Amino acid sequence: MAEQQPKEISGLQLWQWRQAAIAAAIAADVSPTEVDWLLQEIAGLDRLALRLESFKDWAQIQLQLPLAELDLLWQKRLKERLPVQYIAGVTPWRNFKITVSPAVLIPRPETELLIDIAVAAIAKSKNELGLQQGHWADLGTGSGAIAIGLADALPEATIHAVDYSSAAVAIAQINAQNAKLSDRIKFYQGYWWEPLESFKGRLSGMVSNPPYIPSSTLSILQPEVVNHEPHLALDGGDDGLDCIRYLVETSPTYLKSGGVWLVEMMAGQADAVQEMLQNQGSYCDIEIYTDLAGIERFALAQRL
Ligand code: GLN
Repeated sequence: MAEQQPKEISGLQLWQWRQAAIAAAIAADVSPTEVDWLLQEIAGLDRLALRLESFKDWAQIQLQLPLAELDLLWQKRLKERLPVQYIAGVTPWRNFKITVSPAVLIPRPETELLIDIAVAAIAKSKNELGLQQGHWADLGTGSGAIAIGLADALPEATIHAVDYSSAAVAIAQINAQNAKLSDRIKFYQGYWWEPLESFKGRLSGMVSNPPYIPSSTLSILQPEVVNHEPHLALDGGDDGLDCIRYLVETSPTYLKSGGVWLVEMMAGQADAVQEMLQNQGSYCDIEIYTDLAGIERFALAQRL
């Protein structure tokens, strides 16, 4: 019988591993701060213990996985550019700890703003529309981050979260449960609007971070992204706009009058997306919002 590897190690052992991991990170041009973030997640150490190295004297530290396994994954981080979030199995996003695996895109900090933009759009809308109490869609939910952010910010709304990947839906469901929001988020495996046929004309809003990278650009993304994150969540076709174009065309059938249309996009796509929305003819109040880096990142419109 294979001996089970211990998950408890001495503080000294972990201190030694940390020293080596930091040195290897620097040599591999990976930020050494990732080591401490990972140890917070895997070893439950806090920042002060890491900073003061006080854990070095502790008799025992409980790891979530055997040190040998952690070390193997860290080698993968450095040699294969495996994102550190996939090793930890989590990423911080807004006020949540979102579970992630290679089946889902790692939610990005800039995407956090989508929720604030949706909330601000509701605040500006006419009260009698009742947008904050209505049904909202998160199309291409992935880890479920946007659905969870919306459910949290809109305590009276119901969120319908759709993804084509059943593995993604399974992770999104775990995240909704962890956030204690699963009673107001319904999950569906399916193609964009397809599972939401019965909501035609009734949606208060549609929020999405769709794939928007042009296919030809994928290969020049960081190896962390192109070699490890799901291409289904990234590849937006020839000009990167296939999915956004689809969402512009199809959403008017599903949104009620005054309903919110809100998507994330890539740097350089704002003009094209604005034009699509205008030409479609069913939208008004089209606005482009920048992210915190000043990049035109979000397009907002209202169903006429
Ligand atoms: N923001 C992601 C990236 O920079 C792309 C996400 C997407 O295509 N929606 O890789």
